[in-house]
Amino acid sequence: MTAVVGIDLGTTNSVIATLENGQPWVIPDEEGDFLLPSYVGMTDTGQLLVGQAARRQYAAAPERTVKSIKRQMGTDYTATLNDRTYRPQEISAILLRSLKQRAEAVLDEAVTQAVITVPAYFTDAQRQATKEAGEIAGFEVLQILNEPTAAALVFDVNSEETETVLVYDLGGGTFDVSIVEITGDVTEVLASHGNNRLGGDDFDRQLQRHLADRFFQTHNVEVPSDAATQARLLQAAEQAKIALSEHAFTTVREPFLVSQGETALHLETDMAREDFENLIKPLLKDTLGAIDRALEDASMTADDIDRAILVGGSTRIPLVQHLVEDHLPNTPVTSFEPDLCVGLGAALQAGVLSGAEVETVLVDVTPHSLGIAAVMDTPMGPMPGVFSTIIPRNSVIPTSRSEVYFTAMDRQEAVDVEVFQGENPLAQENVPLGSFRIEGLPPKPAGAVQVEVHFDFDLSGILTVTATEKGKGQQNTLVVNDAETGRLSSHDLRQSREAIASLFDLPAGLDDDDDDADAE
Ligand code: AMP
Repeated sequence: MTAVVGIDLGTTNSVIATLENGQPWVIPDEEGDFLLPSYVGMTDTGQLLVGQAARRQYAAAPERTVKSIKRQMGTDYTATLNDRTYRPQEISAILLRSLKQRAEAVLDEAVTQAVITVPAYFTDAQRQATKEAGEIAGFEVLQILNEPTAAALVFDVNSEETETVLVYDLGGGTFDVSIVEITGDVTEVLASHGNNRLGGDDFDRQLQRHLADRFFQTHNVEVPSDAATQARLLQAAEQAKIALSEHAFTTVREPFLVSQGETALHLETDMAREDFENLIKPLLKDTLGAIDRALEDASMTADDIDRAILVGGSTRIPLVQHLVEDHLPNTPVTSFEPDLCVGLGAALQAGVLSGAEVETVLVDVTPHSLGIAAVMDTPMGPMPGVFSTIIPRNSVIPTSRSEVYFTAMDRQEAVDVEVFQGENPLAQENVPLGSFRIEGLPPKPAGAVQVEVHFDFDLSGILTVTATEKGKGQQNTLVVNDAETGRLSSHDLRQSREAIASLFDLPAGLDDDDDDADAE
């Protein structure tokens, strides 16, 4: 038997996934990367480059590199690589073939049948071109599946009841929002809206311009407009953007960016998440308008939506999540591997079509909110001991989030970071997980010192809390292991296990790991 696969053939990145024991998983390349950048190129000696290698040469040799071919599917456009022209189907087929090879190498068997996804708004011509691309690559295309439907399947492949799902998909180069109705294995796209020229690439460009301005402010010298320097700046911008999804601050460093006679000029600047958010907010506001238009087209209101799903790498930006949550206040907004989930859904559908047993992906979530005690400004004055949530309950793990806090008093020299889990607005009413202190803060007025508190919750349930003072970088860390805190009531579990084991007169916890025993 040959394996069936699902493929997300994306504008920026592509993904191939397969099914094992009813569960989909994404097939990585030799380096462990799940995403194949959707770039195809040719070296000057005529060697084919696909993915990361082609992406790397793009800045230096754009005339020999093709990107975002998805935008041209179904048109007469041709791309020229060295001395040959290629139709969009052919460039896409090169990407698909590369994914096929990846899958065959990992699975060690022939891979011939595939489900390939396309945006809900794709026309017949665009769908047909995608199917042809699959056939040129050597696949039997089982189905051309809508991307929002694929994403929704990951959450509810076996749903019996009718569910109305809003899929908000913000990738590298495109944005779309779709409303899908799912009943059993029948899905229907009720409405789809978007902007196929909006995505993370635009955020990178905004930040690139902002960094160039800052460079000018520091050195009074313009960043040269040559392709190589601008490519470095753009890459630095993308890295900073990704860092700011996890951290409230980051430092952008591009040494020797510009040389002026004998002197080299460096770019070195601190970026706050808030600065980045202000740059992209106007673009994101437009995406909220698209939500309203899609609802209108489907003759629905936000209250008709059972669940919203965030898809696409750019939905990892916390502001995107917050804006969608605020825009749909009564709708649960979920996200799971936003850049892989369309590929995973396509693999599930491939499984369904080939008659395999499939299961909804098991998503592991945080059972309690995690946060710290903070002072909150109220009309009656500052109120201490308020629980400030950093990782909300039901967040998919692993997850990392951070928030920024300000000192509450003038010349405050230290802050105590007290970590709690629970849902009560008063910190003390929740379960304390530990605390630590950061000392040696600069003596400044209240509110003038910023401390970033970063929570990292990993798959094994270990929470690492790091607090960093923004100016001097004073830092302290606390690691909380859930086995010690009873997050999953491991203490009770252990006692029950011992009690039951004693009934059988067996030594308890033989299969336990030592950590658990040490925690007693
Ligand atoms: P996709 O088209 O879904 O693969 O998304 C690609 C886009 O997601 C690119 O613009 C990436 O820079 C962006 N992206 C990936 N990871 C993150 C992240 N952690 N924070 C912000 N943007 C991200």
